[in-house]
Amino acid sequence: MSDRRPIRILPPDVAAKIAAGEVVERPASAVKELIDNSLDAGATDITVEARDAGLKLIRVTDNGCGIPAHDLHLAFDSHATSKVSTLEDLERLTTLGFRGEALPSIAAVSRLDMVTALEGEEVGSHIRLEYGEIVEQSPHASPPGTRVAVSDLFGNVPVRRKFVRSLRAEANQVRSIVVQYALARPDVRFSLTLDGVPVFHTPGSGDVRAVIAAAYGPEAARHMHDVEMAESGLALRGMVSAPGFTRQNRSAIHLHVNGRPVQNRNLAFVLEEAYSGRLMTGRHPLASVNLVLPPSDVDPNIHPAKSEVRFAREREVHGMLHRAVSDTLLQIRLAEIEIHSTAALDSSDAVTSTPSLLDEPPAAEPSPQPLVPDLPVLRVFGQTNAEFIVAEGPQGLYMIDQHAAHERVLFDRLDRQFEDGEVSAQPLLEPATIELDAAQLLAIEENRELLRRTGFVLEPFGSGACLIRAIPAIDRTPHPVELVGEVLTELASLPAPSAARERALAATACKMAVKAGQTLDLQEMRELVRQLERTARPATCPHGRPTMIHLSHVQLEREFGRR
Ligand code: ADP
Ligand code: MG
Repeated sequence: MSDRRPIRILPPDVAAKIAAGEVVERPASAVKELIDNSLDAGATDITVEARDAGLKLIRVTDNGCGIPAHDLHLAFDSHATSKVSTLEDLERLTTLGFRGEALPSIAAVSRLDMVTALEGEEVGSHIRLEYGEIVEQSPHASPPGTRVAVSDLFGNVPVRRKFVRSLRAEANQVRSIVVQYALARPDVRFSLTLDGVPVFHTPGSGDVRAVIAAAYGPEAARHMHDVEMAESGLALRGMVSAPGFTRQNRSAIHLHVNGRPVQNRNLAFVLEEAYSGRLMTGRHPLASVNLVLPPSDVDPNIHPAKSEVRFAREREVHGMLHRAVSDTLLQIRLAEIEIHSTAALDSSDAVTSTPSLLDEPPAAEPSPQPLVPDLPVLRVFGQTNAEFIVAEGPQGLYMIDQHAAHERVLFDRLDRQFEDGEVSAQPLLEPATIELDAAQLLAIEENRELLRRTGFVLEPFGSGACLIRAIPAIDRTPHPVELVGEVLTELASLPAPSAARERALAATACKMAVKAGQTLDLQEMRELVRQLERTARPATCPHGRPTMIHLSHVQLEREFGRR
């Protein structure tokens, strides 16, 4: 190459601009760094204001410890930090910041004013930088704490300005950063103003539910339940939504480690795993969970924006999160049962479905109503939305979820056959090949006898696959590959081996049952309801969801204002 240029060390201003790109990728990243600093300074009240999504102005005001006048210029030197001085400090970080890069990086690409005062100080100080150069430093009146105003962000890096997407998308990012921190630190008051309009504020009362109400509305807050667990030096605390209250994406799954909001796909996956089988496909829970670990067990130094972390005891952390969320979901389910049971006891007309997890109804005082009312004989008169069967009984109207009802029927049939020896197998005319992951292969190894008794004949086929020779014999034949895949996935994600039989049978029943969206004729619906009537627990599907809703005549009359 004839036009090759000599290798040179970059002038400091160019190097600073390049380094700034790592930390301050967009306005929201500057907001994030400034909040980190305020929290590290012990602030309990943080106000964020942004104009033009932060491109024109970002102002963060805190009531933290402030910076002494003689140190102020140092804060803007590269790698200048009050938080870390030795390598050992890095191993036991309790602060959000540690690299000493944020302020110099932001200052390198903006005009920045900082006004700060220590507690009890009469007069504080002001420093002004323009694109990395200190242009002024003087005493300045200020309440205790720090106020940083960043204007014309990326004014000297037009390229980066171009990369900023629409102002609205940026403003959303800024909002989402503030929400994340408010959830991570419910004990701190946050308020956010965008273009002069207050859009978010939290009370700083320490109550996660209050922050959820501020971010997602009171309806969401009502559906949240506490999660809490502590074991062998690890702890976690937070809230998760009931399985019935979900969102279209994972953006409301907030995870924090020692008060630091983190992105961690594995953690989010583990959390969702705990809901397994209880969320509709494509739906995701709301959650805000803070993991509290010894600082030496967490490495936050793997990402320029410090938003990813690595765990020393990852398996333990995952196990604890899974157990904690599963426990909470179980409590929710038990509480639902309680409510249903109480309703059945309270009102003479209620023959409402009573989901039951418990093998036997609790031996309470003799009650006028049995806890699980046998299902009366029903007269089916139609189907709505190709999803629900509408029927009437002596006590009123019943709406039956056709899929859940069929699941119950098939589960009971499979369970009975299993109990008596084994589920009859139906050989496939053409054996099907299924590719399996390591967890699924292990699940075959660990559940050989169970799978055989459930009616599956599986043969090893190459290294990561097996041949499906037979599946449980049920009048409807599902796609064998899907069926086996689902059953093995269920078995692979078991919380306890004792649940294996129920999970395998439930997964089989689920795959074989009629789906929502399938039109049934009257004869088929009647047959299904007849079969449901004969099951031991007609009111719930094997996953514990209700199979039907009952509207009594009394309820109907009330609705119509006749009572
Ligand atoms: P780091 O946070 O990694 O230490 P920064 O560049 O973000 O690096 O900040 C440099 C130093 O400036 C901090 O270590 C801290 O001493 C001081 N500082 C920055 N912001 C604040 C603030 N809001 N309140 C008090 N001190 C601050
Ligand atoms: Mg910092």
